[in-house]
Amino acid sequence: MSADETSEGEKKLDVIRQVVADDVAAGKHDGRVQTRFPPEPNGYLHIGHAKSICLNFGIAEEFGGRCNLRFDDTNPTKEDVEYVDSIQEDVRWLGFEWDELHFASDYFEQLYEWACQLIRQGDAYVDSQSPEEIRAQRGTSSQPGTNSPDRERSVEENLDLFAKMRAGEFADGEHLLRAKIDMASKHLILRDPPMYRIRHAEHHRTGSDWCIYPMYDFAHGQSDSLEEVTHSICTLEFETHKPLYDWFIEKLGIFPSKQYEFARLSLTYTVMSKRKLLELVEGGQVDGWDDPRMPTLCGLRRRGYTREAIRAFCDDIGITRYNGMTDMVVLENALRGDLNKRAERRMGVLRPLKVVITNYPEGESEELEAVNSPEDESAGTRMVPFGRELFIEQEDFMEDAPKKFFRLAPGREVRLRYAYFITCTDVIKNDAGEVVELLATYDPATKGGDAPDGRKVKGTLHWVSAEHAINAEVRLYDHLCKVEDLSKIPDDEDWKSHLNENSLETLTDCRLEPSLADFDAGTPVQFERLGYFTLDANATTAEKPVFNRSVTLRDAWAKMQKR
Ligand code: ATP
Ligand code: MG
Repeated sequence: MSADETSEGEKKLDVIRQVVADDVAAGKHDGRVQTRFPPEPNGYLHIGHAKSICLNFGIAEEFGGRCNLRFDDTNPTKEDVEYVDSIQEDVRWLGFEWDELHFASDYFEQLYEWACQLIRQGDAYVDSQSPEEIRAQRGTSSQPGTNSPDRERSVEENLDLFAKMRAGEFADGEHLLRAKIDMASKHLILRDPPMYRIRHAEHHRTGSDWCIYPMYDFAHGQSDSLEEVTHSICTLEFETHKPLYDWFIEKLGIFPSKQYEFARLSLTYTVMSKRKLLELVEGGQVDGWDDPRMPTLCGLRRRGYTREAIRAFCDDIGITRYNGMTDMVVLENALRGDLNKRAERRMGVLRPLKVVITNYPEGESEELEAVNSPEDESAGTRMVPFGRELFIEQEDFMEDAPKKFFRLAPGREVRLRYAYFITCTDVIKNDAGEVVELLATYDPATKGGDAPDGRKVKGTLHWVSAEHAINAEVRLYDHLCKVEDLSKIPDDEDWKSHLNENSLETLTDCRLEPSLADFDAGTPVQFERLGYFTLDANATTAEKPVFNRSVTLRDAWAKMQKR
């Protein structure tokens, strides 16, 4: 029984689902469950967002509720339709469909009216001080703040100034609409927080209709309330905002949405912030948002990650209120677990070394039967061409091999997968003394991979027929960052100096068995002994397919670290 199972073997509910289950049982909101996923369209979604998506959409599915997709587009200078489109594509790719699609910007008029309502109630005022003055009056966690000299402005004056703010009569920063709460509150967020700022900027949806924009705190909860969201789920950084979330809703007397927090996902050896990911895209350190090294959903997809693997990962890590780092290996293992079951096996040689089978008849070839998947009999078999000239992996040969090197070496015998036993008889070198070709003999009696005399070999190598193989480029990936936890890098250091300069290795002279020509970008494949790969549709040309390694078969990094 694992820690998250009950004695009946059922999965114990996580902290958020427990609240939802209790509310439903208590008949709160007539047992109705409404959630939402609320991205800001200022970048592409990353694997952290997948955690939030799986939680919000998952809860709606499990409790017979509904989940909306809402764009929190209140920050005109950073947002773009490109992001709006990609976010929808990514949510759908994960296999979820929203009940309603909303934009916070559709609520701008309503939010403006609610701001006027708060002014009329004496709960908001226009502050005309400079941002520096306002900051200086805020106080600290141990010291109360000081009231603004504008705090006692009349309702009429406030309404007039706010209308003029909207009408565009002032420059950015000249005035600020603030909630009038308590400059001595122990919750810093309640010390007269800003509600509206002046920003003369084009918005990707409302154009130049507005030059004042609501702050997050005066848009998010109100949007939740308008959509009658019952459980507004967000990450723990927003816990300090909760008193304000509740205050606005109470003062406006609107639908009582409630906020619940969970720990955000942080993964080792990568970055998880749209702002930082954008820096990489703009700085050219990566080849766009969908670079296979990026933790973005489109990057992971191009790398060969499946939605099943990502959803299994989100399931595995669970939902807690404890902020910690999740090891990248957990994500990789989720992919291995998914692909092991359904990826067919093929043979490909990444760094080819030619082997000539000197006792195989010249000009002849044959086809040998190979199993497509040891995990799935229904995947059947295929025929793989075999001939006198083959390629094996350079690292599968060693001239002065130690005893425990169970691969090919002069005088040693190995099995070629699905084919024959071969014995290396000669080594051909170039002028520089490098091994360029091997001569070998094969034993025709070992066809299929077993010797009738019961003789054993320790090594089994993958190979391709030189005459029949297709040429390909293969891209191997390593972690984006060299450090495990980027948040530990001091602020005065450029985090980009910790990028892994060896995160991409491009091999341009790979040889693959011919059946690999039939694979498309959506079909994962295991290259035997090398890992899981997928065709890169963006990079592939008519002349040459390009394959990305999605993940190695085992965790190579852990092994390297131990050395
Ligand atoms: P970023 O800093 O990467 O831009 P964000 O929190 O600003 O992230 P939003 O677009 O505002 O991004 O996020 C949409 C939703 O996804 C929010 O509810 C947010 O809490 C959630 N989310 C964002 N990052 C993570 C993460 N790493 N783990 C879990 N949930 C996340
Ligand atoms: Mg954000």
